Amino acid sequence: MAGSGTAHLRGPEALLRVESLVVEYPAKSGVVQAVSDISFDVLPGETLGIVGESGCGKSTTGRAVLRLDRVTSGRIEFNGESIGDASESRMRTLRRDMQMIFQDPVGSLNPRRTVRDIVAEGLAIEGKPTAERDATSSAVLGQVGLGGERFAGMLPRQLSGGQAQRVAIGRALAVKPTLLICDEPVSALDVSVQAQIINLLEKLKAEFDLTVVFIAHDLGVVRAVSDNVMVMYLGKVCEFGDSAQVYENPAHPYTRALLDSVPLTDPDKGFEGPALEGDVPSPLNPPSGCRFRNRCPSVQDVCATEEPMMREVGSGQFAACHFPLKNIARKLGADGRSAVPTAPVS
Ligand code: ADP
Ligand code: MG
Repeated sequence: MAGSGTAHLRGPEALLRVESLVVEYPAKSGVVQAVSDISFDVLPGETLGIVGESGCGKSTTGRAVLRLDRVTSGRIEFNGESIGDASESRMRTLRRDMQMIFQDPVGSLNPRRTVRDIVAEGLAIEGKPTAERDATSSAVLGQVGLGGERFAGMLPRQLSGGQAQRVAIGRALAVKPTLLICDEPVSALDVSVQAQIINLLEKLKAEFDLTVVFIAHDLGVVRAVSDNVMVMYLGKVCEFGDSAQVYENPAHPYTRALLDSVPLTDPDKGFEGPALEGDVPSPLNPPSGCRFRNRCPSVQDVCATEEPMMREVGSGQFAACHFPLKNIARKLGADGRSAVPTAPVS
């Protein structure tokens, strides 16, 4: 069976390694192909950013790693252990080491428990005594910027969105995980609060020695925090590589289109270009060959018949495209826009 390729996978020292992951959901009118044969790895201490439009399979990927969704096929390795078919009791132990935070902070907190108890939830499950739980809770609340006892006795409904996300982050870190999966952790927050939470996550990453998977549709956010970036489209990986390199020289037309769709309000973030037209096709019936072909400015006949494999297009940069873009694609013109139009390698 043709796969998307694993050329971009690195050594066995990866903390998280996902190979040929497939997640499908049965539906009345067929099968939802949410994640279709993707591979990636994250080395210890690294931050991997996952980007793509809504519906591209980002959350499903994160949930599959924690085995919160049923994995249809593929291999997931955490710390060298294959966990794709680990028992539920083994997963409960492993999930302490692999924590996840979500987009809706208030909704992810138990409305009837105090902030102090929510942060200590994981420790309570481990059977730690009350004194230890309270001590850890106070310390962690201080680290997430909610110290001084003022917040400890509050209920989630008394918190702002940003404060609630701080509590959710505290709850995740109280059990000292090694891997933190952040699924659009700032998408629901006011713009002014987003930067505070991003900065907090960066600070905590160092303090807790974390490896991070950071899912977002805001490319500016991902660029700021990620070592590597993985671009997903309709359940597939389009591009994977060093974050700065992918942003400066996107090789996949989809990456380029995503970057060019970023509004020009912040010149560091992107260039105003033709917005990505149309919608992501239905994952019930994805296009043959390259799934991006019906929206791609570089499309050719082969794109309908042959699925492009992941291959190296630059040092440490990989793309699944029959006609990857030249590396001059996003040089700036004098007016601050892309100086060179989208051009495939001939
Ligand atoms: P993203 O996080 O990139 O927006 P998701 O992983 O949430 O994308 O979803 C990928 C695709 O899978 C979408 O088409 C979504 O509607 C579908 N999907 C997600 N969860 C389920 C589910 N439990 N049952 C059926 N379809 C689902
Ligand atoms: Mg999502």
